[in-house]
This record gives sequence, structure tokens and C-alpha cells, in this order.
Amino acid sequence: MLSQIIAPESIKAAKLILRDATKAVITVHVSPDGDAVGSSLGMRLFLSLLDIDAAVVFPNACPEFLKWMPGFEDVYIYDKQQAEVQELMSQADVLFAMDYNAASRIGALGEFFLASSAKKILLDHHPYPEDFCEVTMSHSELSSTAELLFRFITQMGYYPELSADIATCIYTGMMTDTGSFTYNSNSPEIYFIISQLLSKGIDKDFIYRRVNNTYTEARMRLQGLMLQTMKTYPSKHATLMLLTKQQQQTFHMQKGDSEGFVNMPLAMNGMKMSCLMKEGEDGQIKISLRSIGNIPVNEISSKYFNGGGHKNAAGGEFIGTLEECILKYEEALMEYKPLLTSKTA
Ligand code: 5GP
Ligand code: MN
Repeated sequence: MLSQIIAPESIKAAKLILRDATKAVITVHVSPDGDAVGSSLGMRLFLSLLDIDAAVVFPNACPEFLKWMPGFEDVYIYDKQQAEVQELMSQADVLFAMDYNAASRIGALGEFFLASSAKKILLDHHPYPEDFCEVTMSHSELSSTAELLFRFITQMGYYPELSADIATCIYTGMMTDTGSFTYNSNSPEIYFIISQLLSKGIDKDFIYRRVNNTYTEARMRLQGLMLQTMKTYPSKHATLMLLTKQQQQTFHMQKGDSEGFVNMPLAMNGMKMSCLMKEGEDGQIKISLRSIGNIPVNEISSKYFNGGGHKNAAGGEFIGTLEECILKYEEALMEYKPLLTSKTA
């Protein structure tokens, strides 16, 4: 049995909003990941069961390895379709915020989201949600927003109608946000949900391969280079990988090609924290942080890199040179050394 973790008042309020709605727009955070894509596409399919015509809008493109998902062909990309998206948003009765906790996480789209008079519903699992929606279903104890979507559909009373396509979207979100159930995935109910998704006809082995085994040769070789050039801080149980603009060009890097790099160093015995710095345009550096146990990389990211995320998976940005960025990271390592070297962390 599944616990009814979504507050009954939230379900009631969502039902009331959706009862009168005919048009919806579903938004996700910039650089959509598997959970953002899975939960938004799954929500769209669910809304079609309620006769609500929903459009999924990504602020920018998602990685290639997610483009096979059911309904992906109908997604709008705000970066490329600004006028159409603004029109869709102005006509919508209801807007969804999925897999993000603050309007600033959807980039330029945030302004239109906040200004819209449509009712707003948030489903997310990032901590510290901002108060910008009429209905806020925020559950940071869950593996993923996709898991929350499964619970939402079930608590709304639509489990019998949940299709294989919706189940595929949900499973993909849950799988990608837990590193194929290797972190953030100890709740027994996750496996109850998976068994229910399997009974709806998903092919979990196919989904795994479709998401994980799609590397180009260049990507595979770039992975090798990242491991060769990785810096280790043995006394702090931490690592650092750098991905320069030059390397991105040499290896013909495409969007999503660096996905997973930051997780690799944690496969080393005793390693507790890993960082990837990826050079972007205009002196901006994208930071990805991963950790195990009690090392709160969301706190580190917010203090040092103007970012946030989850306790064991977070990200942020740095404006300046790579050298300055490395110094900043090393400052963080000094501050967190007691925790990084603590036996209980
Ligand atoms: P990734 O390292 O895969 O880009 O991001 C890992 C996690 O950190 C994601 O759950 C994402 O929501 C969060 N995150 C990544 N970049 C940022 C950022 O710039 N700001 C905030 N607040 N969170 C971020
Ligand atoms: Mn997520």
C-alpha cells in the first residue's frame, strides 16, 4: 500500500482548478533532466485524460538521450519559440511548475509565469520551495518529481487509467533522478511504485538502455579524458574535474554529453564529494556537485556558487576564470574538511 503523502487539501484544490480548466501549460527548470522531462510529459498525458489540452514548455533544449520519450515531439522550447509560448501561456487556465522550486529556475520564462493570471500548481521535490503557486505540492523526501506525479495521479483517483506511456515517463524520471536507483532510493515505497509501473506494461530494461547506453564515440573518449585529468584531494576525500571550452570543441560535445561525469569519481573507495566545472560562454562556469552521506552539497553550492539543489546532488554558477573557480572550490573544501573527514559523514 502507498502512503497518502500529498495533503488532501492540495488534492481537493487541484481537483477544483482542473475541473474548470481546458488549457494548461506545464513548465520545467532550465536544462531539463530526465525527471523534468518525464514528469512534465507524464503530466500532459494525464491531463489529456481529463480533457485538458496541455502544452509542455522547456526553457531550453534537453539532452538527446531523452528525446525518445512519449510526447516529446510536441514539446515547445522557449528559447526557440518565444512568441508561441507566450501565446500559449496567455490562453492557459492553469500553469504547472514541475521539478523546480522558484520562478528564477525557469529563466526568462519566469517573468511570464509570475505575471499570468492563470491558476498555478507546483509539483516538486527540491527543498525550500518559494511561494509562487496557488497549490504547492513540495515533497523533498521523495526520489523525484516523477514519483510525486505517480502519487498525485493515484490520489486523484486515476490509477486505473494510468497508461503504459504515462508509466514510462514516470519510471524514466524516477530512474534518472536516483542514478538508476543507486542513491536517494532507499524508500521501500519506490519499489512498490515500480511494481505498479511494471504492471502497467513498462519495459524497464529498454528504458535503462535508451537513457544510459547512447554515447557517441567522442563522448566515451571525453569521459576517459575527464578521468585522466581529474584532480584528487585525498586528505579531503574530494575530487575535481574540469571541462574547458577547448575540450568541448575538440570532442564535438553536444548537450547532455557531460551528464554523469560528476558521478564517476564517487565510485572510488572512500570518496565523498565530487565537483565538475564546465566552462560556458562569457566567463560563466557551470558547477555540478555530488556527494554521499551527510555532505550537503546544496548548502555548499548556495554558499560558494550561487546555486542549490539536493543534499547529495546540487549545482550552481561562477562568473570568472577557471583558476578563480578552483580556488573557490578549494576554499569550500577547507571549510568542510572536518565534515569530509568525519567518520560519520
Ligand atoms: P546538475 O549537476 O545535474 O546540473 O544539477 C544537480 C541538481 O542541482 C539538480 O537537481 C538541479 O535542480 C540543481 N541545480 C543545478 N544547477 C543549479 C543552479 O544553478 N541553481 C540551483 N538553485 N540549483 C541548481
Ligand atoms: Mn528532479
